[in-house]
Amino acid sequence: MLLREVGYVRPGSVAEALAALAADDGARALAGGQTLVNVMKARAGSPDVLVDLNGIDELKGIELGGDGTLEIGAMTTYSEIVASSEARARPILGEVCAQIADVQVRNRGTIGGNVCTNDPTNHLPPLLAAIGAEFTIQGADGSRTVSAADFFGVYFTAVGPGELLTSVRIPAGRSDGFAAVTLGVDGTCIASAAASLNGHVRVALGCVDAVPVVLEPAAADADAVRAAVQGASLDPPSDVHASAAYRVHLAEVLAVRAVQQAQGSA
Ligand SMILES: Cc1cc2nc3c(=O)[nH]c(=O)nc-3n(C[C@H](O)[C@H](O)[C@H](O)COP(=O)(O)OP(=O)(O)OC[C@H]3O[C@@H](n4cnc5c(N)ncnc54)[C@H](O)[C@@H]3O)c2cc1C
Repeated sequence: MLLREVGYVRPGSVAEALAALAADDGARALAGGQTLVNVMKARAGSPDVLVDLNGIDELKGIELGGDGTLEIGAMTTYSEIVASSEARARPILGEVCAQIADVQVRNRGTIGGNVCTNDPTNHLPPLLAAIGAEFTIQGADGSRTVSAADFFGVYFTAVGPGELLTSVRIPAGRSDGFAAVTLGVDGTCIASAAASLNGHVRVALGCVDAVPVVLEPAAADADAVRAAVQGASLDPPSDVHASAAYRVHLAEVLAVRAVQQAQGSA
């Protein structure tokens, strides 16, 4: 199917990109295009102008701070995270990025696009919520940093019109886990869970709500984790892939698996 005619600009800096977004209400950022272009092909979205972020070097790269904090540019691809020696400071990042779809998607798809899409079946929203990531957003009035709790909203993110996510900050830590049931090998998640045991137990569930459901079980044993999931009163959607009741069951099983993986990686 042919796309509707669409304008295209390729700015060389964040400032130029923000100016291009501000110049047209119908302008949209283009990152890896792995969701946006499919949305356009399906006619579910029809931007007037694509502001291609691929020429902006300041949005790319991974920096490892002296305290173990990672600062990852929004335009860093999954493949770059998998290959990065710096990103191994938080090994779960590369492990999960390596599970996303196929090599073509991993070579184009970006950490920023993954979270800005805010698709509950995507791998990174629950992972980044569990490990306490922070998100830096830049707009005409400057930049601000928000937590995952403030970033992910129901059908929106904290990135407002005319703004860009510029980077994702990952605190130091190693004891993390991720478990998912997917449609086929490396397919879309039917249910997912991420866990982090750095200091305290934090679990984030994916695919059971519009946003990651973050839980703080009282302890890391299986009974405590199950109790926390049961106490969350989950009300996930039913669809062709899984009933709501099956997703609730998977959430419990996967939360326990993710915590056990985190214990093993300590
Ligand atoms: C066949 C296939 C299978 C897939 N399977 C999975 C999977 O199993 N797990 C998974 O997690 N994902 C999966 N995806 C989605 C993939 O990970 C996408 O890469 C991701 O959802 C979007 O990232 P992108 O860089 O391609 O962003 P784009 O598609 O370019 O953009 C997505 C949205 O985010 C906005 N945006 C992007 N970057 C920014 C920014 N820096 N600031 C503000 N807004 C921004 C865009 O305007 C757009 O609205 C799959 C995709 C395909 C095609």
